[in-house]
Amino acid sequence: MKGGQLIAFFMIKKREDSMKKIQMVDLVSQYEKIKPSIDMAIQDVIQHAHFINGPAVGRFQADLQTYLGVKHVIPCANGTDALQIAMMALGLKPGDEIITPSFTYIATTEVIALLGLTPVFVEVDPRTFCIDPTAIEAAITTKTKAIVPVHLYGQAANMNAVMEIAEKHQLFVIEDNAQAIGSDYHLSNGKKVKTGTIGDIGCTSFFPSKNLGCYGDGGAICTNNDDLARKIKMIANHGQQQKYVHEVVGCNSRLDTIQAAVLEVKLRQLDNYVDARREVAARYDEAFAGISGVQIPFRADDSKHVFHQYTLVLENANRNALQEHLTENDIPSMIYYPIPAHKQKMFAAFGSHTTDLPITDWLTERVISLPIHTEMDEEQQEFIIDTVKMFFANNN
Ligand SMILES: *Cc1c(COP(=O)(O)O)cnc(C)c1O
Repeated sequence: MKGGQLIAFFMIKKREDSMKKIQMVDLVSQYEKIKPSIDMAIQDVIQHAHFINGPAVGRFQADLQTYLGVKHVIPCANGTDALQIAMMALGLKPGDEIITPSFTYIATTEVIALLGLTPVFVEVDPRTFCIDPTAIEAAITTKTKAIVPVHLYGQAANMNAVMEIAEKHQLFVIEDNAQAIGSDYHLSNGKKVKTGTIGDIGCTSFFPSKNLGCYGDGGAICTNNDDLARKIKMIANHGQQQKYVHEVVGCNSRLDTIQAAVLEVKLRQLDNYVDARREVAARYDEAFAGISGVQIPFRADDSKHVFHQYTLVLENANRNALQEHLTENDIPSMIYYPIPAHKQKMFAAFGSHTTDLPITDWLTERVISLPIHTEMDEEQQEFIIDTVKMFFANNN
């Protein structure tokens, strides 16, 4: 036992010397591959001083509409704004209830409360990590106005079921597509569409580490509804359609031209980036499928997982010990998310900390995300796999 450990340690140590440092996301290596186009695009914005609403914004908007196959894309300042503006455009009133998973990034739920709306936290499916349609039905009241499914980690929520419930109860659907841009979804009518274009409104983020990330903050809202598109555009621009004529209370949320220029270049790579992430995920799957008590990511057959994160569920292993073991070997790992929304103090006024969400709590204590990005080489990944496997060999 001791000898085996020593040999394994030696092998790993030796490989590490020549290996590029492992990161959760490697944006520098990614930039180096597209450097000439990115540098030229940024220079062009600066040389023309087209910092606000420059031509790259319109070009990127049109490109993204084509890519997503959606009628309207409205770029904005970040993904959180996208969600806020989407909810403002639906004309919701204080006290209206919005059904959302608790197991998500805080931005999804935060904007609900910010607008004086009431978040109603429901369970997720423990396989997909996304909102559980049965839980939605059970949470609907006369005050329910909208559902916000989140395509967590790049796995689409069960949108066929969500849309059916929404139609039956006349509810709006806002998709939080911040982690799943590029994912395909098979509708029950046989059509294949992009996530974020299925509900009334889809919201996304171009935060640098997202699957389509810019070099700062950015976001976008999309819809196939002309009337909603007009309202969204107006709200994102101080509530005006005509300069200095303000029809509704809005905000100032724009995508910088420099960010749009970066995104115009990177959108052309998005499908390649998705493929690269899926290849990394497939290698992890193969390596970890046989470890007992470890749940590898589920691939729903109605969608294409785009692996914003590669997240394992450790049914009984000591997560802290695994994280420590990885850290000792210079491998980063993350817990997305350590505290579910319904347990956050910010929602104490809604009494949501007493909401019983056992699956969410269970997942929160057991998930761990490993490095996954477009630039991971096989040597790095083999090292991560060996290190994880060694932990289970010594702890099971
Ligand atoms: C990143 C993210 C957001 C917010 O995006 P920002 O651009 O950081 O404001 C919202 N929802 C989810 C699920 C996210 O991952």
